[in-house]
Amino acid sequence: MYLCRGIRTSVRTFHHSNPIRQPPPLKAEIVSVGTELLLGEIVDTNASTLSQKLAELGIDVHYRHTVGDNHTRLTEVIATALGRADIVILTGGLGPTEDDLTREAIAAATGQPLVRVPESEQRLREFFAARNRPLADSNLKQADAPVGAVHLENVCGTAPGIFMRWQGRLIFAAPGPPTEMREMAQRSILPILRQELGETDQLFTRSLQLMDIGESQVADLLGDIISAQTDPTLALYAAPANVRIRMATKAPNEAAAEVKFAPVEARIRELLGNHVFGLDSQTMAEVVEQLLRERGRTLAVAESCTGGLLASRITDISGASEVFLAGVVAYANEAKTSLLGVPAEIIAQHGAVSEECARAMAEGVRRVAGADYGLATTGIAGPTGGTDEKPVGLVYMALADERGTVVQKQFWPGTREQFKQRVSQMVLGMLRKRILGVE
Ligand code: ATP
Ligand code: MG
Repeated sequence: MYLCRGIRTSVRTFHHSNPIRQPPPLKAEIVSVGTELLLGEIVDTNASTLSQKLAELGIDVHYRHTVGDNHTRLTEVIATALGRADIVILTGGLGPTEDDLTREAIAAATGQPLVRVPESEQRLREFFAARNRPLADSNLKQADAPVGAVHLENVCGTAPGIFMRWQGRLIFAAPGPPTEMREMAQRSILPILRQELGETDQLFTRSLQLMDIGESQVADLLGDIISAQTDPTLALYAAPANVRIRMATKAPNEAAAEVKFAPVEARIRELLGNHVFGLDSQTMAEVVEQLLRERGRTLAVAESCTGGLLASRITDISGASEVFLAGVVAYANEAKTSLLGVPAEIIAQHGAVSEECARAMAEGVRRVAGADYGLATTGIAGPTGGTDEKPVGLVYMALADERGTVVQKQFWPGTREQFKQRVSQMVLGMLRKRILGVE
């Protein structure tokens, strides 16, 4: 049976020691600014993004703070963070309105008054002139920075970021909108930190996506390489219907990283064979779409329990129209009969969740759409609707092509969402194996 885990993503790392750096790691604190964060109106993705990037650099994040748009509390938090950390990174509150207080609070916490930066004022004026928009006085405060700070360019918006050295600490402030924050981190903040660490190497990663194999089986099969491996390091990640192995190494450039990845990847592929279905962020739908495209073959799907998710995953790929002909969501028994030609007797005799019905759905949609391959899903997603004979989590997945029809029965109890994700992933996996001839 396929891996069945909780909704939690688990990660096992197999680092022995950190071979990269000897001195104690730098300590960082992240401050997310915005009352809407405290109200739960938005999720703090900026802090996660920054935490990840800092971890990759070997910088330890000791605290993350969330604080509203309040001058006193924000100043207090910055002062507290500066009392302990080497690096303090703030996001949000750099806009032009009165509740954007990050600049003012940094000034208050460091005792460095705000001054206008002429180049930034010039840039703001040009930005507004180019868009034929009037420049309000409030906008000009975005050209201010505490004495001793420099502005970081914002190529996606108007608010420049802030970088300041203060009493041996490094302070950064980036805008709240995630695209602006990410861009500024990539372009300015991380390079400054890398330089500070004396690093010229960058971190490179490669993930191998796995199917039809559980985390513990992978750990067993790869035990030898995992325990011997220090560079690249290997980590195993597991989420429902998705296990992947991530390799990571530091290298001056991609070619140098490739030299380290290639032999380890080759060995993993040798041991795991066709369980490796894709690389990095590649999805199963992308892999299948590409296989169909290369072979000039077409697909149609008939969905009951996945309710359109399967078609949605395929049509997420730009250009899918070349290989994807049709998707039919046939939920009611009558729809299975009228749209897909599933004989009413099959449903009467075996039920809609049955091997026979799945088979007839796959064959039906293949015929109706004139496709090379027909896929079908029928199952009981729950939480209601299960019986002793057909419990929640039971699913039949079928694949029809010119060689015949195959049906797989599985049992995946879980939440409705997990169930739909797993089924759509696995039925695509069936097609992948069929196309590659590796059943
Ligand atoms: P703006 O110029 O847009 O006002 P700002 O730097 O003042 O930028 P905020 O006003 O704090 O930033 O936030 C702007 C928007 O950015 C928020 O409404 C929210 O959608 C998003 N945002 C802010 N902080 C975060 C965060 N920590 N994680 C995810 N999104 C965020
Ligand atoms: Mg704002």
